[in-house]
Amino acid sequence: MSRVPRIAIVGGGPAGLLLACRLQQAGRAVQVYEADAAPDARAQGGMLDLHAETGQAALRSAGLFAAFQQLARYEDQGMRLFDAQGRLLLADDGVGGDRPEIDRGQLRALLLAPLAEGCVRWGHALTQARRLADGVELAFGNGAVERADLVVGADGAWSKVRPLLTDVRPQHAGITLYELSLPEVDTAHPALAALVGRGTLIAKGNGCTLFAQRNADAHVRVYASLPQALGDGEAAPVHTRASLLLQFQDWHPDLRRLIADAQDSVRPWPIHALPVDHRWAHCDAVTLIGDAAHLMPPAGEGANLALRDAADLADALCAADWQAAVTAHEQVMFTRAAVSAAGAHAMLAMDSAEQVLQMFDAM
Ligand SMILES: Cc1cc2nc3c(=O)[nH]c(=O)nc-3n(C[C@H](O)[C@H](O)[C@H](O)COP(=O)(O)OP(=O)(O)OC[C@H]3O[C@@H](n4cnc5c(N)ncnc54)[C@H](O)[C@@H]3O)c2cc1C
Repeated sequence: MSRVPRIAIVGGGPAGLLLACRLQQAGRAVQVYEADAAPDARAQGGMLDLHAETGQAALRSAGLFAAFQQLARYEDQGMRLFDAQGRLLLADDGVGGDRPEIDRGQLRALLLAPLAEGCVRWGHALTQARRLADGVELAFGNGAVERADLVVGADGAWSKVRPLLTDVRPQHAGITLYELSLPEVDTAHPALAALVGRGTLIAKGNGCTLFAQRNADAHVRVYASLPQALGDGEAAPVHTRASLLLQFQDWHPDLRRLIADAQDSVRPWPIHALPVDHRWAHCDAVTLIGDAAHLMPPAGEGANLALRDAADLADALCAADWQAAVTAHEQVMFTRAAVSAAGAHAMLAMDSAEQVLQMFDAM
């Protein structure tokens, strides 16, 4: 198949939308199928810092960097590291850094803005993908059935496209994050606003971690990370603020207030990962990018890699011999993702703030 392929992208997250922008700019017909019923059907979650070589480079390639800079919070790049006793081991105010923050909802809106009306078909949750002699058939939960020459799985951790390429499934990585919220932190919780500062707070001890991130609109998101062993398909245990506080009972009272003073709702994020060197044999009709290709524990890289994968795949798909270019792109992506995944697993294995400090010192 050397003619220009009809391309279907499954998933309208960072990877799928960046790819759609780039292909549309290149004059290619492209359709995105997204499970969400509408762009704002669900909250998109916390913030992301975009790195120069990956996330920022991808936005530049799509002509979106100036618009990104309008939203990017260069002032929120700070980092504070505490141990469980509340000792401050590292305070970096982030001034002069090049990892500006953006909220996920803002990033999604930024990527949707240039797309033509109808490019994203909302409310299309893929339920099954089937290989045909000349492409792929996609069946959706709403009853729609579509065909494409090439399907790009950008449908995240539990990709329904991935089984066309591999039987490998994500496994629980041994921790679950419990997300809590502190809205209007400057006025409602000034002491916690001062504790977190402009950016991210990490506190570690006894195998548990607290992350607190300052998002736009003075909203602080807190993630309490607990070690757990979950089997395949097993749900994470439910926690309330009170039961979470028991897990952190030996911690300094100022850090415990990040949980105690938060709103009641506690959302679990069981963390799953694909094998560090996950890869597949090339297939001209199907490929994967982002979390669908290389789900890893959160370490500040996943969305950045997803955006960079999409930009590189767009370059490959616009090459004259696109099949060869996509094959080469996949090899580069596999290697890049394996390095980041190894780092993410190494971070996951650290159980003291001192180890995290050593890692930062070595960077
Ligand atoms: C708690 C947490 C914190 C994180 N923090 C960071 C961070 O600070 N920095 C960073 O770089 N990364 C971070 N990550 C990782 C980052 O969120 C992901 O790597 C990134 O979102 C991957 O982008 P993606 O486009 O590949 O997938 P996703 O963002 O997961 O997007 C997939 C899209 O596909 C859609 N979809 C799913 N299934 C279907 C289906 N069957 N049919 C149609 N559509 C479907 C979804 O609705 C979604 O819109 C974090 C992850 C977690 C869990």
